[in-house]
Amino acid sequence: MSRVLVIGCGGVAGVAIQKCCQNDEVFTELCIASRTKEKCDALKAKIESEGKTKTVITTASVNADSVEEMIALIESYKPEVVLNVALPYQDLTIMEACLACKVHYVDTANYEPEDTDEPVWRAAYEKRCKEAGFTAYFDYSYQWAYNEKFKEAGLTALLGTGFDPGVTSVFTAYAQKHYFDEIHTIDILDCNGGDHGYPFATNFNPEINLREVSANGSYWENGHWIETAPMEIKREYDFPEVGRKDMYLLHHEEIESLAKNIKGVKRIRFFMTFGQSYLTHMKCLENVGMLSTSPVMFEGREIVPIQFLKALLPDPASLGPRTVGKTNIGCIFTGVKDGKEKTIYIYNVCDHQECYRELGSQAISYTTGVPAMIGTALVATGIWNKTGTVNLEELDPDPYMDMLNKFGLPWVVEENPQTVE
Ligand code: NDP
Repeated sequence: MSRVLVIGCGGVAGVAIQKCCQNDEVFTELCIASRTKEKCDALKAKIESEGKTKTVITTASVNADSVEEMIALIESYKPEVVLNVALPYQDLTIMEACLACKVHYVDTANYEPEDTDEPVWRAAYEKRCKEAGFTAYFDYSYQWAYNEKFKEAGLTALLGTGFDPGVTSVFTAYAQKHYFDEIHTIDILDCNGGDHGYPFATNFNPEINLREVSANGSYWENGHWIETAPMEIKREYDFPEVGRKDMYLLHHEEIESLAKNIKGVKRIRFFMTFGQSYLTHMKCLENVGMLSTSPVMFEGREIVPIQFLKALLPDPASLGPRTVGKTNIGCIFTGVKDGKEKTIYIYNVCDHQECYRELGSQAISYTTGVPAMIGTALVATGIWNKTGTVNLEELDPDPYMDMLNKFGLPWVVEENPQTVE
């Protein structure tokens, strides 16, 4: 029995909200609030017309960049938990508002600033690049800085309950709890074997996606970061139910938290599959400056190139009907159990067309939205009640793993899988 406020109404939110409505014993009341209220109203109308849920839905408009607007909305709706599935730019303002109103906070992606040229942020970023050794625009320091405040308030801020980060962290906690005395290496493999038929499109918010994949790669080894050029490290892997794919090493946010929370881990890497066409398009767009986040003057007004590009690309939420094929996302762990070396692979396979038939979405939004609902449900019901800022590998994985099976993301544990060189 809980009352939850969801911020954002894009591709991921669409799935998370529909999944909350499938779990209406827990999510009895839901408010969908976003910048464009029409999208919230349209989703509410779709869900209500299907007549399958008891969840009572309301909608609101909010600019989540404003702490004051967020506080006013939370004070009027009085939720127990706020699920942030807007953009990472809004993480800190929403966290501030949750603290002020004493409600739990949940998100799927760690903070990064919209304007990477803002001088105060830039100075802190450059210092961090030198000291920590990785140059991604996002890192956990801004959100972890709220740990004590959330603890003192007796509140949970659950960070990163999507698939990666999110389920990958839960897979790690599950491997640690049931399969290993000590985990030594973690390879996170994110494969999208789907085809949407467009020459170029991104599967989630284009701005966030292109920032991530055009950046330097990095991995964690023997206590420190090793940085690579973008797409410098390439491997091939034969993914169960998808087949052989090229994959490239990227920096990814869960490496930072897993390195902190998994004692004894020696190496953590993250690989994502990309087709050649995607890479060629991205390189070309980068070469002509279209991925830049710095404003330029055009015909008398300022535009941000990557935001203009976003306006030209297909809306990720519209890819559902056209995308065929499967995703396979999971983790390969090596380590020791009872003095013996051991290797396991835990993964989920998700079919784009099945997701579309169920919820009208493609698999990338689906594989993020389902875990967003699960994390929120575990916080709302108090099954997960650790206070402070919490990454998912710090919590008991078993209830989450059960809910993955129940709500559409069943997983497999394979012993002695093919490993990555
Ligand atoms: P979309 O761009 O589809 O949706 C974002 C939504 O947030 C839109 O409804 C948008 O409103 C709303 N929004 C943006 N700015 C504001 C604001 N200032 N105030 C209120 N609402 C706002 O993104 P996705 O659904 O693809 O992604 C959502 C989140 O999920 C992102 O943070 C992304 O990084 C994360 N993600 C996490 C993954 C994981 O595995 N952990 C994987 C994929 C995504 P409007 O409609 O007006 O534009």
